[in-house]
Amino acid sequence: MSTNDEGFKIAVEEARKSLREGGIPIGACLVSADGKIIGQGHNARIQRNSAILHGEMSALESAGRLPASAYRGATMYTTLSPCDMCSGACILYKVARVVLGENNTFLGGEDYLRQRGIEVINLNHPECKDMMTDFIAKHPDDWFEDIGEC
Ligand SMILES: [Zn+2]
Repeated sequence: MSTNDEGFKIAVEEARKSLREGGIPIGACLVSADGKIIGQGHNARIQRNSAILHGEMSALESAGRLPASAYRGATMYTTLSPCDMCSGACILYKVARVVLGENNTFLGGEDYLRQRGIEVINLNHPECKDMMTDFIAKHPDDWFEDIGEC
């Protein structure tokens, strides 16, 4: 798993797209066991006035309704460590691994994922860190709302 993976490149592009839309720069991409892109999306809480459209949830939603077998062996690429909601969705659908861009600006449910047998790989990607560091500095209220903090 590397930053050259197509799924990771798409996740980063989705994060940039969200930023351009005035949203939180977090993107995700779901790739099947045989390497097909089955879903992609970005955080759209601000753009869509949504309580649940984090990057990973957007990617799952864009994949649409699928049989459980579609998630077996799949990889969820995300630009940021997944929160409890998104970690829970990955556990529910039993994806095989979560590949994340960084966990410096936010540490989500990585231990929970590992406890449930999901492989977690952190790529420590500078652009992912920079986009989030910058966004949090400029829009702290939007960010704390996103992670359920007052
Ligand atoms: Zn989330």
